[in-house]
Amino acid sequence: MRIGFIGLGNMGSGMAANLLAAGHEVTAYNRSPEKAAALVERGATAVTTIADACSGDVVISMLADDPAVESVTFGDGDTAGILTSLPQGAVHVSSSTISVALADRLTAAHAEAGQHFVSAPVFGRPEAAAAAKLFVVAAGDPAVVQDLSPVFDAVGQRTFAIAPGPKTANLVKLSGNFLIASVIESLGEAMALVGKAGVDKQQYLELLTSTLFAAPAYQTYGGLLARREFEPAGFAAHLGLKDVRLLLAAGEQLEVPLPIGSLLRDRFLSLLAGGGRDLDWSALGALAEWEAGGARPAPD
Ligand code: NAP
Repeated sequence: MRIGFIGLGNMGSGMAANLLAAGHEVTAYNRSPEKAAALVERGATAVTTIADACSGDVVISMLADDPAVESVTFGDGDTAGILTSLPQGAVHVSSSTISVALADRLTAAHAEAGQHFVSAPVFGRPEAAAAAKLFVVAAGDPAVVQDLSPVFDAVGQRTFAIAPGPKTANLVKLSGNFLIASVIESLGEAMALVGKAGVDKQQYLELLTSTLFAAPAYQTYGGLLARREFEPAGFAAHLGLKDVRLLLAAGEQLEVPLPIGSLLRDRFLSLLAGGGRDLDWSALGALAEWEAGGARPAPD
């Protein structure tokens, strides 16, 4: 397929490389153009405008947050966005973790322009993106989602086509990140407790993950916490806060109280206020140790 790829950050760079490896023709755009260089070496064409990335069958966006997706899709000042650049009948696949409300707006705007919109957020960190091991949660017109399976197969190990309405995928993705953040917080508290009593954290983690907690979330985040490996960030703490805020907005819209979500929002604020904005979001779990008299999550 002829694919435009917009957003070559921690996640997008690996995803675009795997599309190339699977034989797709990739035209890549990134706001900071130097990030396209590694991809060009693998056979991509780098372009300097969003419009130039929109000439294929599909354009995939993998951007930081709602404002980034809004400006890239709807345009910014004199800069044309995806909406005015994509041919009729072509598809915009949004893989960013964005709000349910923005997914709804994008669905309507693309339909009005005679284009298709599919939400396809992903589970998995940058290592999984680089290894084509993501889990893709896809929602949109079932026929369009089906046609996109070679694209999803190139970036992930499994695709869940969950609903005809794109926003459902965004809601599911936000709910998943809420669960991960809950694990990070509770694991951090448990580790602070046993760690202060002298238990070796790595040994403790091995006990957990080889018995009742043998799940990737515990393995990955427990390892990062035990090693205090918060830099470089695979997923930055400020993006974690963004996801909790989007979760709470979705809960408010649906009138679903999410008390643990509210707590996590405040925990992320503490982490950011303490200088942890650009640390990996696993540093959230290190707040408990700090509050128990231990080291700060962010280095002084
Ligand atoms: P990242 O490394 O910070 O990359 C963000 C990308 O967005 C960069 O390409 C950046 O361009 C671009 N961008 C930001 N603001 C922009 C704007 N106003 N206009 C145009 N481009 C803009 O983030 P990431 O970790 O790849 O995450 C990307 C998305 O995937 C986020 O929604 C995140 O929540 C989600 N996600 C992340 C992970 C993870 O573990 N990292 C896992 C699953 C999902 P520049 O290079 O110019 O800054």
